[in-house]
Amino acid sequence: MSWVPSYISLYASGELRRRVEVLETMLGRCSICPHDCGNNRLADEIARCYSGYLPIVSAATPHFGEEPALVGTNGVGNIFFGNCNLRCVYCQNYLISQNAREERKNQVSFERLAEMMLELQAKGCHEIGFVSPSHFVPQIVRSLEIAVGRGLSLPLIYNTNAYDSVEVLRLLGGIIDIYLPDLKYADGEMGYRYSRVRDYPQHARAAIQEMHHQVGSTLILGEDGLVKRGLIIRHLVLPNDIAGSTDSLKWVQGELGPHTTLSVMSQYFPTHRAVATPLLDRKIRQGEYERVLATLDALSMDHGWVQEYEASEYYRPEFEDRERPFKGLAENDA
Ligand code: SF4
Repeated sequence: MSWVPSYISLYASGELRRRVEVLETMLGRCSICPHDCGNNRLADEIARCYSGYLPIVSAATPHFGEEPALVGTNGVGNIFFGNCNLRCVYCQNYLISQNAREERKNQVSFERLAEMMLELQAKGCHEIGFVSPSHFVPQIVRSLEIAVGRGLSLPLIYNTNAYDSVEVLRLLGGIIDIYLPDLKYADGEMGYRYSRVRDYPQHARAAIQEMHHQVGSTLILGEDGLVKRGLIIRHLVLPNDIAGSTDSLKWVQGELGPHTTLSVMSQYFPTHRAVATPLLDRKIRQGEYERVLATLDALSMDHGWVQEYEASEYYRPEFEDRERPFKGLAENDA
């Protein structure tokens, strides 16, 4: 039997409409993410994420750089949202995440965002991936309602920095099939120095616990061998242990269990302001990466993927080319 996402029954019962209404109300005094800015985005007032009412889409394209069990043969249909609620000095997508004046030109209607989902489905993508979605959840759900009415039936991936509101995530229960959060830091001071938020660990951990509560530890695979439901936590290893890898991995093991699916990444390279940031101005060393892999072994965590040490050599998004921002990647590279 083929997989049927649960958002289809939420649509049929009218529950999706109710969620849209609740989320839109939250935009009137924005508390969509933990910044809790309180600005009226319905009136296009902007605050920390530089985003008003309409969604901003920087690129929508089949993407082959995600984990193999998501990519399959036709890729993930990724929709890259403009702007962000974090300010990471090393952001590899900084051309779209920290370029608010330019990104305003990429505002689209809810109808257009729905069409993008349907176009990616028509291209044969296996899932729709919402990339950096945290500040646009109400807009995504409103557009999803339109797309479902016109036949969207792919699993949805929520690909997030994890600086998410638990209250908002609860409203995504039964809508999102696959959660793909980062776990960036274990130490709030590091989060402040390098991403401009003091409380990253507490909010990211609470968000990931909520995601885990919704979809569990076990990845559900379809007949095609691809993930249909579940949680995959990404951890990017940073130089000088800025990411606090051991603390984060121990937290995952202790709170969510040793069989939680992880994607451990070595692809860090200094870009954007990290080029001139002490401690972040170099790639990670092989020894640093091997220590993280040894920690995984010591914690008996063997579900998921680890990148080859050399990944930073080829994994470089180029957002000047919005049609194909990851053109350095061959199909199925991950
Ligand atoms: S989504 Fe944007 S405006 Fe709303 S609370 Fe977060 S940073 Fe502030």
